[in-house]
Amino acid sequence: MNEKYIQNLSRMIRMETVSVQGQNDVEKFRRFHGLLRELFPALFAVCEFEEYDGSILMRWPGKESPTPEKQGLLLMNHHDVVEAGGSWTHGPFSADVADGKLWGRGTLDDKGPLWAMLQAAEELAEEGFVPERDVWFESACTEEIMGEGAETIAKMLKEKGYRFEMVLDEGGMILTEPIGGAKGDYAMIGVGEKGCADLKFVARSAGGHASAPPKNTPLVRLGKFMSYIDRNEIFDVQLSPVICEMLKRFAPAMEGLTAKAMADPETFAPLIKRVIGKSSPAAAALLKTTIAFTRASGSAGNNVIPDEAWVIGNMRYSHHQGREKSFAAVTKAAKRYDLEVEVLDPGIESPLSDWNSKAFKLVEEAVGVVFPGTACSPYIMTGASDSRFMSEVSDNCIRFAPFHISDEQMASIHGTDENVDLKSLVPAVQFYRYIIQKF
Ligand SMILES: [Zn+2]
Repeated sequence: MNEKYIQNLSRMIRMETVSVQGQNDVEKFRRFHGLLRELFPALFAVCEFEEYDGSILMRWPGKESPTPEKQGLLLMNHHDVVEAGGSWTHGPFSADVADGKLWGRGTLDDKGPLWAMLQAAEELAEEGFVPERDVWFESACTEEIMGEGAETIAKMLKEKGYRFEMVLDEGGMILTEPIGGAKGDYAMIGVGEKGCADLKFVARSAGGHASAPPKNTPLVRLGKFMSYIDRNEIFDVQLSPVICEMLKRFAPAMEGLTAKAMADPETFAPLIKRVIGKSSPAAAALLKTTIAFTRASGSAGNNVIPDEAWVIGNMRYSHHQGREKSFAAVTKAAKRYDLEVEVLDPGIESPLSDWNSKAFKLVEEAVGVVFPGTACSPYIMTGASDSRFMSEVSDNCIRFAPFHISDEQMASIHGTDENVDLKSLVPAVQFYRYIIQKF
């Protein structure tokens, strides 16, 4: 079985599906849909299929056909990938098999999970299995460009009154020792994601010649502003209930005072906030809104003081502070340096899902069966996924892909040498089979 798995996923990797902002090639994605039809014939035979500018939605009718507001399971992933620059040991679209791994762009993000989801359903359909309620599959071709594929589909579903009991998208994976000292394997199950906004900070002046510069020219003010944000904590740092739950689940693996503090994070909040805040940028980002300055512009001439200069800040707002209060905090800081703030893209505030829900528990159960000895923990994604749009049609959007990955593999996502372990293919299919059968 594994040979066929490797072959099929390889074919999906070799068909390049890089999405490009503003000029997405829909025909390229349609060719990929043709490949999916070829690889998963039994599933396509039982499903209704719709396409929205290269993004797809499929419905596998169940024994019961519930009303729109009583729909069950929506499984989603995406079939576009990010570009593959840099120097790769194995070509990004080679799908080389070497060292027990399959190499190529999309092996983890997100064709590997997409393949596993469809392969599981394909096998069930071949076996004559019919789900109790309809099962839906969604895969957008615009996820990596923050595009509209999943948003369009979510809006359509919402307009028609659909509600899903569970949405399962890409997200966290299984990590070994996800935080220092938490020995063992943990399935990091996303129950939400931070919102993502782009803000422009503009400094103006009368301009002038560079030979006689006044104080506080636009670039200097922007520099002072960025330095201020870098050195001061302008956003609320909090241990949210999800993070407290996560720490409690790590606590049994820890020792001494750390174990004690993590078992009771509410009481030890000040200490934990200090430790996490200093441990790594990724950990610190779990506790607060962040802003990263990503682009800048000054004048067009080397000897001209700009009359207008700007920087772009990419903000990820926390659930506890929210979008408007995060905007207010950064605007207050910008005012100190006489900057104007323009919101280029406000992003979406998507709510958190409950880790006591049936949906979350089903994922935990599937992990327990397929990956014995793996503990589960809820967490909040700092990156974005298409499931943020689906919170319009479900209260339970879970973000998890059933693959055990190393730190190197984690770094290969959106980086170079992306790869998936061959031995992880069978359990990934088993995981989705379990979800579809037990839902
Ligand atoms: Zn992805």
